[in-house]
Amino acid sequence: MRLTLVFRWFLLLGLMPGGVGTASAVDARVQNIRLGASEGATRLVLEMSERVDFKVFSLDAPRRIVLDLPSLDWPDVNASPEPKGLISGLRFGQFTATQSRLVIDLNTPAIVSRSFVLDPASGFPHRLVVDLKTSSAENFAKQVAADRTAKRAKAPAPSAPPEILQAPRKPNRKPVIVVDAGHGGVDPGASGRKAREKQVTLAFSKELARQLRNTGKYDVYLTRSRDIYIPLRQRVNIARKHQADLFMSIHADAIKRKNVRGMSIYTLSETASDKEAEALARKENRSDIIVGIDFDDQPPEVADILIDLAQRETKNLSVKFANLVVKNARGTTRLLERTHRFAGFRVLKAPDVPSVLIELGFLTNRSDEKQLLSAGWRRKIAKSLVKSVNGFFSSSQQARMTQ
Ligand code: ZN
Repeated sequence: MRLTLVFRWFLLLGLMPGGVGTASAVDARVQNIRLGASEGATRLVLEMSERVDFKVFSLDAPRRIVLDLPSLDWPDVNASPEPKGLISGLRFGQFTATQSRLVIDLNTPAIVSRSFVLDPASGFPHRLVVDLKTSSAENFAKQVAADRTAKRAKAPAPSAPPEILQAPRKPNRKPVIVVDAGHGGVDPGASGRKAREKQVTLAFSKELARQLRNTGKYDVYLTRSRDIYIPLRQRVNIARKHQADLFMSIHADAIKRKNVRGMSIYTLSETASDKEAEALARKENRSDIIVGIDFDDQPPEVADILIDLAQRETKNLSVKFANLVVKNARGTTRLLERTHRFAGFRVLKAPDVPSVLIELGFLTNRSDEKQLLSAGWRRKIAKSLVKSVNGFFSSSQQARMTQ
């Protein structure tokens, strides 16, 4: 059956003499991505500088086809072809330290009928070809199940959920701050005319980390310092692993109404403060779906009741920090009305780390986009955040001493 082509690996062992972690000096380059559609079938072609290994699998809810590849030098996001045929969307980029990924959104149930690599011929370079054909919803579901079984046979069982109770924080250590640049790699986030959210969030996060480190008062970590995807839960776990005292997730929004602009800040709540905040959380939480994370492979979340107990104190501290941010940003930059809002953001769910999500502005608003692309504006806003961080930790230390 054709299905045996799923999960085929090419040349894997022969190409990696040094074993895991030996990345080639220069990644293979994707020179062009092409789509061709005919009745009930669509072909995807990656033109490559060399032959690479790949595997392909299907995911549901929503229906997607995922291609896992080694680290590659991908073309600019703008070079992505217009979706056509069975394909409604296409994303690609770095996925893990050693892997890149291409995610194909399907507008109808479809399965991979063939996938193969062609050597250079007739003026074409190496080509990786994936042929899709329409299928029934039932056959698509069967394919997803088969792919999952095959993947589980190869991969180790998912690890246990993180422990709630941690070793006590060492006394007299510097406060630990984790700055989280939203999106990255295969997940570009929102887009403006020129800017991509993943680029803006990284540039801002680096600036913020630099200024925080310069105070000499904090230990600062970034969840990512390059264009790579980090799953939402892993971002939370990075904060918990460092026993962070504060977690800031940096984002920039996009909205249909192009006149809407300004910065806003979010803290965790089961019930959203308003419809807009709820919609935003839904959008930001889709990040893992966008990059093709299979939730069936994930370890279960920590029991909700434990989270609830540990979280009360954390929530109060998060709100306190958010209030400081709003106070210090007022007069420094344009703020969205009702600047501090609440919703169920997955990335804010560390039960023991005060966490906020900051939407710096709207990439869909020209003035905001211009600001987000300005290093001067980013410096100014980072400075106002550092002021809020200083206020937050000086007052919480005072509180501790008077207890
Ligand atoms: Zn975002």
